[in-house]
Amino acid sequence: MIENLVREEIKGFKNYEVHSIPYRYKMDANETPFELPEGVIKNIQEIVKYSQVNVYPDPTAEKLKEELARYCKVVPTNIFVGNGSDEIIHLIMLAFINKGDVVAYPHPSFAMYSVYSKIAGAVEIPVKLEEDYTYDVGSFTEVIEKYRPKLVFLCNPNNPTGSVIEREDIIKIIRKSNGIVVVDEAYFEFYGNTIVDAINEFENLIVLRTLSKAFGLAGLRVGYAVSNEKILEYLNLVKSPYNINSFTQRIALEVLRSGVLRERVNYILNERKRLINELSKIKGIKVYPSKANFILVKFKDAEYAHKKLLERGILVRDFSKVEGLEGALRITVSTKEANDYLINVLKELLI
Ligand code: PMP
Repeated sequence: MIENLVREEIKGFKNYEVHSIPYRYKMDANETPFELPEGVIKNIQEIVKYSQVNVYPDPTAEKLKEELARYCKVVPTNIFVGNGSDEIIHLIMLAFINKGDVVAYPHPSFAMYSVYSKIAGAVEIPVKLEEDYTYDVGSFTEVIEKYRPKLVFLCNPNNPTGSVIEREDIIKIIRKSNGIVVVDEAYFEFYGNTIVDAINEFENLIVLRTLSKAFGLAGLRVGYAVSNEKILEYLNLVKSPYNINSFTQRIALEVLRSGVLRERVNYILNERKRLINELSKIKGIKVYPSKANFILVKFKDAEYAHKKLLERGILVRDFSKVEGLEGALRITVSTKEANDYLINVLKELLI
């Protein structure tokens, strides 16, 4: 009976799968390897004491928005906070996508653009990246002309390829589009270039960010959108009132104020450079350039490499079965110790 009640879009649908596997080094989900800053841990008792969990959290996450606005050099009314940027992608669909509307996104890219499109009943147009995974701007403008997508996603830097799209090209796409253009800047801090400053110049631009990556708060679930007030009004209409819990709001605020970001990002950038250098020396591996905290690498036999890495306790993400990513594994840049361990295991494997 239940099968007859479920929405058509959900029948036979496969969601994002996450497996729990024991590991020594976790290099599969683009998290940072750092704990909460020491100063924040010291204050945890105070934070808990004054969190008033007997009452609902601030539905507008006002203080957190103020801090995020400072960080992005915008005003708080340009910020929307979500339970991870995943939730915001979902809410964008809920606010703007009717069944049958067109959503375009790069391919290969972050899987959730497709997952939430399917749930919304959208018509998906994946726009292929070039062979070397750089953006093919011509293809995007052709797709926009031909299909008039209601939503266009650009992922910058792109997950899982690490490639980027230049500002002029983003602007070209925004100008061409009659729909909303979402620029997902989840990995912004490892790249340094942003389009956030243009949110009031274009009425159809949403920039997505997250505290899950450079700020190291994946477990707390904080994503945010930066956009004009009109668009955010609609996102506010469809959100659950208490989507960010009280602890998360407080701890996120403390972490933003803690001042650890620069040092931590620099550490990862140094390690990225070293990892790319070292991996490039190993025969049989093709390493792609990256502007994020992960590196896409191709193997002759990715399945074998993945299995061997797992046996040695290293989790990386296997993309080798995804169309366009044959032979590819994605490795998250981690601590020096973890990166060295990975390099040595791969050297042993492939020599
Ligand atoms: N966008 C991109 C490009 C991502 O890679 C991720 C996480 N893998 C997200 C959004 C979602 O991040 P979160 O929900 O943790 O904010």
